Amino acid sequence: MAETADVIIVGGGIAGLSLASALTADDRAKLRVILVEAEHSLAYHTSSRSARQLIPSYGPEVVQRLTDRTLRLIREAEQDLPAPVLTPRSFLLVGSEENVAARASGAMERISWDDAVRLCPQIGPAAGAAGYDAAGLDTTAVGCNTDLLLDHHRSRAEAGGTQILTGARVHSVQRLRTAWEVGAGAQAVHAAVVVNAAGAWADELAVLSGVATQGLRPYRRTAAVTAAGRAPAPDSPMVAAADDSFYFRRDDDGLLISPAESVPSVPEDAQPRPEDLESLISRLNGLTTLDIGTVLRAWTGLRTQAADGLPVVGFDPEAEGFFWLAGQGGYGFQTSSAIAELAAGLITGTGTGAGNGAGHPVAAALAAGRS
Ligand SMILES: Cc1cc2nc3c(=O)[nH]c(=O)nc-3n(C[C@H](O)[C@H](O)[C@H](O)COP(=O)(O)OP(=O)(O)OC[C@H]3O[C@@H](n4cnc5c(N)ncnc54)[C@H](O)[C@@H]3O)c2cc1C
Repeated sequence: MAETADVIIVGGGIAGLSLASALTADDRAKLRVILVEAEHSLAYHTSSRSARQLIPSYGPEVVQRLTDRTLRLIREAEQDLPAPVLTPRSFLLVGSEENVAARASGAMERISWDDAVRLCPQIGPAAGAAGYDAAGLDTTAVGCNTDLLLDHHRSRAEAGGTQILTGARVHSVQRLRTAWEVGAGAQAVHAAVVVNAAGAWADELAVLSGVATQGLRPYRRTAAVTAAGRAPAPDSPMVAAADDSFYFRRDDDGLLISPAESVPSVPEDAQPRPEDLESLISRLNGLTTLDIGTVLRAWTGLRTQAADGLPVVGFDPEAEGFFWLAGQGGYGFQTSSAIAELAAGLITGTGTGAGNGAGHPVAAALAAGRS
């Protein structure tokens, strides 16, 4: 006997969980929501592998708007949480004048190279000599306790009646006359709306459902926490190269580093390649005085994006009741609450919150099937 629901969300990362939280928090909608996750734990894939930094000046204008709204919504939610989700941590962009100028927008101000070195003395003369001699600073950027944020959404969703099934990989999706029939693990669910929040597997889920794909491609990105002889002070900014060749920041127990690579991948449980980290460490030890030593832990996640780099959010234009919530790329946390609010508004038809309503420019920019 199949379970019935109004909405079935496929994917238990930040996208699926924040939507479940937004949908079930709206008492007016009174929706029955089921969230299914293939893995035995929630947020097993990309959502547990981020750099945990939210940067209002990062990304195209529509992403920056979503980030501002997300920060506002998280700050409201924080009032009911036992600890802060967000903590101030500026973002320092370094590079050639040309590269920094091309990337500095929104909340980022241009600062002199001397000021940049004062903020992070480890990027001294060697980086300057290698052509990293211009800088921009976003003082509105924050660190994010992603575990707390994910858990907040999970508990709010469950308190609102969402049923969460883990270890329930969706293996079949079929359009019936008025609903979808979804096979997830040993369970069958009938629902009017299927939400595709499957991260790197989003296009695969579309194929399984007989729905046209959106050209979503997963790209590898690796990060590691290492020992460092001269790690930056706890209140120093995250530092990123404007040519996308590295970033680093202080972490609780060491230094977080990333080669900031964007290498196409199949959807998979991505794993770090030791040679990528070895060459990054050797390069950073040449460019800085960080004195990076042993790798304490490393991980790789998949950042999935559409050809234009914007998330894909909205009902599929051809397949009735099939809703896309994918392609968040490197912005999945910083846009999460605003995208969930937008998606919930489109699904319930209530259109509350900034940027909601199918005709709104943000909704139009993210729409599935946009050309
Ligand atoms: C190294 C790195 C650093 C990053 N840093 C930041 C950062 O600082 N700030 C930021 O905002 N973003 C950052 N990101 C991006 C961010 O982590 C992602 O955008 C976000 O986690 C994507 O969330 P998601 O829910 O879409 O995907 P996922 O977390 O991958 O969740 C998708 C889920 O769907 C499940 N699934 C797939 N297929 C099925 C199926 N058939 N049945 C059931 N379940 C299925 C998967 O198991 C998975 O759990 C970073 C990413 C990486 C890799």
